[in-house]
Amino acid sequence: MKISESLIKTQKHTAKDETSRNAQLLTQGGFIYKNMAGVYSYTPIGLRVLNKIMGIIREEMDRIGAQELFLASLQDPQIWEKTERWSDEAIDVWFKTRLKNETEIGLATTHEEPLTEMLSHFIGSYKDLPRYLYQFQTKFRNELRAKSGLMRSREFIMKDLYSFSRSEAELQEFYDQVILAYSTIFQRLGLGEKTIITYASGGSFSDFSHEFQTLTEAGEDTIYLDEEKGLAINKEVYSDEVITKLGLNKSRLVERKSVEVGNIFKLGTRFSETLGLGFTDEDGRKKPVVMGSYGIGPGRVMGTIAELHNDDQGLIWPEAVTPFQVYLIGLDTGSIEAEKIYRQLLESGVEVLFDDRDSASPGEKFADADLLGIPYRVVVSPKTIKENSIELKSRQSSETELIKFSELLERI
Ligand code: ATP
Ligand code: MG
Repeated sequence: MKISESLIKTQKHTAKDETSRNAQLLTQGGFIYKNMAGVYSYTPIGLRVLNKIMGIIREEMDRIGAQELFLASLQDPQIWEKTERWSDEAIDVWFKTRLKNETEIGLATTHEEPLTEMLSHFIGSYKDLPRYLYQFQTKFRNELRAKSGLMRSREFIMKDLYSFSRSEAELQEFYDQVILAYSTIFQRLGLGEKTIITYASGGSFSDFSHEFQTLTEAGEDTIYLDEEKGLAINKEVYSDEVITKLGLNKSRLVERKSVEVGNIFKLGTRFSETLGLGFTDEDGRKKPVVMGSYGIGPGRVMGTIAELHNDDQGLIWPEAVTPFQVYLIGLDTGSIEAEKIYRQLLESGVEVLFDDRDSASPGEKFADADLLGIPYRVVVSPKTIKENSIELKSRQSSETELIKFSELLERI
């Protein structure tokens, strides 16, 4: 993409109304735009990052046999009343609105109820099970505080996966597979080393749920981490009893701040029994479907990556999620040669952002290359042309080197 034809526009200074590092960097780089407190839009370059994150999640969901669907956002209160979750006491972040005829409806905070109700029309026999369904869909939550940019917003995309199994054993089998899939996802997203499987409260059905907590001072959660085992307990369930139950040693647990990037939950038969999702088993008996739910917030993940991967100059995107691999700059008469290199890189399938702006100085171009966090910067100038070379710099290092164009594709 050529910057002159894009919507890319960076700001010289960080926004004064943003307090979190991720929101400052992402708005300064023009990846997101704040519409109002806790509400953000993604620009084309921001959407490229979000799509890469969702692409990785989608691959790993498909790999464990889950199928993608897309549920409606508008919610029928009658279904939520059955599970006693329509009240603002049960779910304190509801956005509710009204139809023209004054009927009250809601904007989805989560999707257990509508999906369970829907599946009662699709599932009848043990032969229809198990099923694993997921979506990337907007959730609306009237969060009390929304100060952490993409990490806690009032409208956000969630990947939510729901499992429908015949027995607790079948649920457990899939649950374990999701733990592995999530570990792979966070590894691939560049958060692997800092993301800790954490025991949290489990609701009514099981002792614990599992959260994927990424260590960062910007997080709102507190966990107690056993560094050696790479396991943690969320503060909300932290007690001597739990520590003993999990076979951990209190003296080895250190308190850390973190953000919940994903969580997985056994739901059991709470929703299926209330909403009439049953099946006839091999033995002819009618049984309720055993469920699980598994969330990841791609927007929160993007904020967390920004929070973890940056320096004084700006963002440093991991290669798996970067909007472009190469930031190409042509200086003076180098611009003509740069245009050729731009074409060649595109033909080779390299995602390249070409800073072809006449209006920007070399200094501004270098600063933007750093701020936008693109892994490789390539400069073509009269000097490099004389050497029959290009200048390559990795975002992670301050060293530049002259290499032949033919070498470039091997290096990036
Ligand atoms: P938290 O404890 O942080 O409020 P939660 O437990 O309510 O989150 P879930 O309802 O399980 O979260 O949502 C699944 C995932 O969606 C979370 O792990 C997180 O990645 C993401 N998420 C939740 N709330 C938000 C939000 N307000 N903004 C952005 N992402 C969110
Ligand atoms: Mg939580």
